[in-house]
Amino acid sequence: MSDIIQKDKKYVWHPFTQMQTADTPLEIIEAKNTLLVAADGKKYIDVNASWWVNVHGHGNEKIGKAIYDQFNRLDHVIFAGVTHPTAVHVAEKVVGLLGEPFSKVFFSDDGSTAVEVALKMAFQYWHNAGESRKRILALDGAYHGDTFGAMSVAQRGYFNQPFEHFFFDVDFLDFPEKENEERLLLEAEKLFQTNEFAGVIVEPLVQGSAGMRMYRSSFLDDLVTLAKKYGVLVIFDEVMTAWGRTGKLFAFEHGTARPDIICLSKGLTGGVLPLGLTVASEKIYTAFLSDDRTKALLHGHSFTGNALSCAAALASMELFDEKKTWDSIERIHKRHVEFEQQLSECKHVLNTRVLGTILAFEINTGEGNTYFSSIRDEAHRFLLKNGVFLRPLGNCLFLNPPYCITDDELKQVYDAVIRFVKILR
Ligand code: PMP
Repeated sequence: MSDIIQKDKKYVWHPFTQMQTADTPLEIIEAKNTLLVAADGKKYIDVNASWWVNVHGHGNEKIGKAIYDQFNRLDHVIFAGVTHPTAVHVAEKVVGLLGEPFSKVFFSDDGSTAVEVALKMAFQYWHNAGESRKRILALDGAYHGDTFGAMSVAQRGYFNQPFEHFFFDVDFLDFPEKENEERLLLEAEKLFQTNEFAGVIVEPLVQGSAGMRMYRSSFLDDLVTLAKKYGVLVIFDEVMTAWGRTGKLFAFEHGTARPDIICLSKGLTGGVLPLGLTVASEKIYTAFLSDDRTKALLHGHSFTGNALSCAAALASMELFDEKKTWDSIERIHKRHVEFEQQLSECKHVLNTRVLGTILAFEINTGEGNTYFSSIRDEAHRFLLKNGVFLRPLGNCLFLNPPYCITDDELKQVYDAVIRFVKILR
């Protein structure tokens, strides 16, 4: 056991990890493009994009240079009563990319804080208007982060059971499938008619943590139209789906409906530094304008508008202006679709699906779909042995690689996945 692993065991408490039974963590000492390099020299293709954040590959030189140059100008400065050019340029760029009706950007630290801010905006919007709207509608299986507000609007269960009695009231619609969409829309309308709903929050088109579950954009359009009819504010949590993941810059571009508030993080900085953005429409923003200072959004974090994160975000967004990035996204999508055909014919493989650069499927273990599936560790270890870093969600295996992944690397990943499903009995 290396010195670092010994010290890790002595000092570190890892996320989402039962420390008593977990495998020894992989010691990664370098990363470049899609490759993670371990302390023993072994290389792994990072098809997890390091928790879905790394869109342009590791060690991207343009992003690195932007951070370095920014550090030499300004590293960080308080963001209340102060501004700086890099944050302003990020806000301008993001509003331009999102288009109507988005107009104001609130900075925070990560996906969870972006969601907390969105929820606070929605609740306070009604508070400022003097209306009592305290309920939120969400989708069954949702995941929006690990802070209390974000947990409140997420799937209840083993992840957040110890905290459940602290959560605010949330109604959940079943996960939309072609067959139940009509019923769900009727249910949503009945709830909205109570005039008690402050907002509705969804992960547009793909529920990430629930196991890359995908639903139709026509349903989302209908749900948003309904919410707007009853004045219910719409929040899209695009923390996972934005920045090209679904084949478009933002998942909402697959449909016609637009939310009032959108949450961004993960790939926003190319996955290099933490940053969260909550972007609101002018309607939301103006509800906080008043001579009364208590009507302001009294929320902020020490690192709000961090200049280094903003520099990384600007550089990452500029990479999306390059044709090369979109050619890669299209290429990965095409390869995934070809591979899906082969995969769907394999025994034990269920429900193969592709959206943009995401490919996902379930392994039929006979236990149903569960995060604690026994196949999870088996798949993870097998793929590691084959040079692939893939972190399954229970019995759901999925690939969402950095866009610089080469065809050869994709082939290596697909071959390893096929070898794994073929050894299953
Ligand atoms: N929303 C969604 C849709 C997510 O997938 C995640 C993280 N996987 C979050 C919010 C929380 O983001 P973070 O882990 O950066 O707090």
